[in-house]
Amino acid sequence: MQSYCYLSRGKAGFCEKAKPVILDERDAIVRVTLSSICTSDLHIIRGSVPRAVKGVTLGHEAVGVVEQIGSKVGNVALGDRVAINVETFCGECYFCNHGWVNNCTDKDGGWALGCRIDGMQAPYVRVPYADTGLTKIPANVTDKQGLFVGDILATGYWAADISEIENGDNVLVLGGGPTGVCCALCAQIAGGEVILCEKNEGRGEFLRKNFPSIKVVTPKEAERLCAAMPRGGADRVIEAAGGEGTFEAAWKAARPNAIVTVVAMYDKAQSLPLPDMYGKNLTFKTGGVDGCKCAEILALIAGGKLDVTPLITHTFPFKELDKAYALFAERRDGVMKVAITY
Ligand SMILES: [Zn+2]
Ligand SMILES: [Zn+2]
Repeated sequence: MQSYCYLSRGKAGFCEKAKPVILDERDAIVRVTLSSICTSDLHIIRGSVPRAVKGVTLGHEAVGVVEQIGSKVGNVALGDRVAINVETFCGECYFCNHGWVNNCTDKDGGWALGCRIDGMQAPYVRVPYADTGLTKIPANVTDKQGLFVGDILATGYWAADISEIENGDNVLVLGGGPTGVCCALCAQIAGGEVILCEKNEGRGEFLRKNFPSIKVVTPKEAERLCAAMPRGGADRVIEAAGGEGTFEAAWKAARPNAIVTVVAMYDKAQSLPLPDMYGKNLTFKTGGVDGCKCAEILALIAGGKLDVTPLITHTFPFKELDKAYALFAERRDGVMKVAITY
């Protein structure tokens, strides 16, 4: 089967691979029906993900249909429509037992699909630990609605969760990219009064039109609004921008004793000027998503409380993945996310 692979630094393209087979009794083989491209795929191609294996099939955001299951798989059945989790986790180790599945100690634990083992930009994918790696999609949820459940929606849900948002908290989300949007919507569901800061005017306009429940502001407006908040800053800040100066903007916008959650991936080290923030008593939370709440997210979608389908601005057939990657990498034509059909 044709698979879209990371070939070498700076290079990705199609290569021919055998259809995957069950290797462990907890595996499942999924026929991919819709997938997407994530900024992390670009990071792999650019050579900035050291753990990525050359030749690996890319892709870690997809939905599909279960084609084959190992003898120990119990949560999904043949023919089930499923959301595939970006993370692989055993569900049994110390970290999994605490819900910290990103740090599962299994050899394939954490983000393996589309990085260390073959991912979903192929007609079929082998999913290890299918009981935790796959979630059945409710009948009234479309493939498009389910597409982001395993990765960016999981991230948004997790970010809102660890930010410990209380009803009526002022939440500032930095960065109106796809992940920022997911963070903002999940923070709203958690009870926050959310403002989303986006510096790109075109993107800001897109967000106001497609996600009217979110208050979208420029960095200047965000600074002004946070300074005028009753407790001197935002109660919670979620940094999803990862740009020049956005980490500093995040902690500066926070009120004393706030929680600042950093989900952004930086390509450079950031400085933590403790003398400047002394007395502000901030709590920082950081890291990669613990994606183990996919069923909860799908229930929100099924209940009409969450819908990020407007993020899909472009659709390409599988054979045009080269074109899709070029558009996404160059951020042309107002692209937010692409959907790949099979
Ligand atoms: Zn991703
Ligand atoms: Zn584990």
